[in-house]
Amino acid sequence: MKDPVSYFAKRYIAGKTREDAVRVAGELNENGIVATIDNLGENVRDTIEAMNGLDEYMGLLREIHDAGVDSTISLKLTHLGLDQSQPLAVKNISAILKKVAKYKSFARVDMESSAYTGTTIDTVIEIHKNHPDIGVAVQSYLMRSTGDIARLIAEGISVRLVKGAYKEPADIAFTSKAKVDANYSTLMKELLLHGHNPAFATHDEELITEAKTFAVKNNIPKDKFEFQMLLGVKRKAQLQLAADGYKIRVYIPYGKEWMAYIMRRFKERKENVWFFMKNIFDR
Ligand SMILES: Cc1cc2nc3c(=O)[nH]c(=O)nc-3n(C[C@H](O)[C@H](O)[C@H](O)COP(=O)(O)OP(=O)(O)OC[C@H]3O[C@@H](n4cnc5c(N)ncnc54)[C@H](O)[C@@H]3O)c2cc1C
Repeated sequence: MKDPVSYFAKRYIAGKTREDAVRVAGELNENGIVATIDNLGENVRDTIEAMNGLDEYMGLLREIHDAGVDSTISLKLTHLGLDQSQPLAVKNISAILKKVAKYKSFARVDMESSAYTGTTIDTVIEIHKNHPDIGVAVQSYLMRSTGDIARLIAEGISVRLVKGAYKEPADIAFTSKAKVDANYSTLMKELLLHGHNPAFATHDEELITEAKTFAVKNNIPKDKFEFQMLLGVKRKAQLQLAADGYKIRVYIPYGKEWMAYIMRRFKERKENVWFFMKNIFDR
């Protein structure tokens, strides 16, 4: 019997090391899919852990460059010291962005729980003034996102639109799937019309079809936006988008801190939890 933890970890996570992630990016590239690599880690406990995060991202950028793979990086502010102090996170990310510019790459800041939304948006806007190769994720389940997207568009910052992966209270977040999806659709159209290289990170085929149709109707060329999906999710759809001439980027997580990431994937798909439990109790 396979170990259920490693079964899911293997499906969703490239491996423990940056070499594993870069190898997986190369395999995706061979199929016309580009990548963004994330070193798993969030809410580090002290400055030393934040500096370890910085070192790992510096090594990752070098590795991506040396291997010649087509991949950007994704990172979380709390992995780089935001809980310790905002200036520490800004310092670390600015150092990373210098290397990003040297290698002509791009860094996307993931959006974490609502405790960090305001600080994340403000921090990205501040950093973007000196380092233009930075973008940020925005969640359609948050009611505030319309305003955040307007600010980011005005600043010329690229947005990755997601539905949102954290549990949020009903006074700040839409809780029904219908409302989250409707807001996604509205924000997606706004980004298609006025955004800067927006990325639509969803596996929702209805929304993907809607984006394609809206782009055609409004004469928005395929190279003005991209789709993004997670490693191990809807692999056939990823290949189909590439075959149809769309830019499709797959998010590749790696590292030892995989538990929080895997738990968010379980939450998105209940079948995963049942499969996991069944394997535990069948032992
Ligand atoms: C590239 C990328 C980056 C992301 N970055 C962030 C971020 O920075 N912050 C954040 O809060 N969230 C992020 N997310 C997660 C996102 O918020 C959603 O939780 C996740 O994408 C599921 O929503 P969905 O849009 O795919 O739609 P859903 O309605 O959840 O799913 C649509 C379809 O895809 C299938 N599906 C969805 N997830 C899975 C899964 N895990 N396993 C198998 N099938 C699945 C569903 O079964 C359904 O058929 C990111 C997602 C992607 C793809």
